[in-house]
Amino acid sequence: MKITILSGKGGTGKTTVATNLALSLNNAQFLDADVEEPNSYIFVKPNFADRKELVWREVPKIDQEKCTNCQECVEFCEYNALASFGNDLMVFPELCHSCGGCKHICPEGAIIEDNKEAGQIKWTPDVNGLEFWQGELNIGEISAVPVIEQLKEHINEEKTVIMDAPPGTTCPTVEAAIDSDYCIIVTEPTPFGLHDLKMAVEVVKKLDKPYGVIINRSENDANQIIEDYCTAEDIPILLRIPFKRQIAELYSEGFPFIEELPEWQERFKEVLGEIEKVIE
Ligand code: SF4
Ligand code: SF4
Repeated sequence: MKITILSGKGGTGKTTVATNLALSLNNAQFLDADVEEPNSYIFVKPNFADRKELVWREVPKIDQEKCTNCQECVEFCEYNALASFGNDLMVFPELCHSCGGCKHICPEGAIIEDNKEAGQIKWTPDVNGLEFWQGELNIGEISAVPVIEQLKEHINEEKTVIMDAPPGTTCPTVEAAIDSDYCIIVTEPTPFGLHDLKMAVEVVKKLDKPYGVIINRSENDANQIIEDYCTAEDIPILLRIPFKRQIAELYSEGFPFIEELPEWQERFKEVLGEIEKVIE
């Protein structure tokens, strides 16, 4: 079973939920797909040793001998990753989205593929019983999708997979969620939280995934704004994590709060039980 943890924006507690949930379960695999800023390792504390693989993406390379400087590829590329200087055609790999279109349309067969390093993947087979994988996007890279795609190739179907998705509602988030069995959207009880929750709900609806909500920094008075929306939309609220000083302090010190508040392990296990009932 694959569960993706989403949030409409950063800073809502997505990583808190993902790490505490994963560490509460038996036989779980964790994938940190928030590849622009992976920070689950702070709480899980894996030792990657030298377990690392590189992620490559294809960019065009021009065979200047064959190129007639016809400009067709320059006009075709919507990302301005190709430009002509005198008789030479130049490629700007940082702007290239690796769509492959220029190679396809070149009438001279003058475009060949080259590889550019996009990021890396690190892993450790066992940290406190958890199999842990982390994707990292290189600085300056234009798209997180190739790293997430390669990270997902390591999904262990024998385990309960918890994936920490990139925040937001753009392509990398969709890539992380698209083949999940269930999505958990983490939100906070504020007007901004509600706004971003609605955007995340639109994404999981379009993906046609079963989903539920976890309210982080939950407070009785403030929660109503989220509770009303979820009731109206018939969205299950799976858990309410209270706005407590102790939880905030543990977070700031880099500790999963289930270590100090072990009763929450049972609550996270109950969340998994609720999800299993929906999926079966
Ligand atoms: S389409 Fe081919 S031949 Fe034309 S400018 Fe581009 S690489 Fe050169
Ligand atoms: S692969 Fe696509 S994005 Fe990259 S240079 Fe060619 S047309 Fe542009």
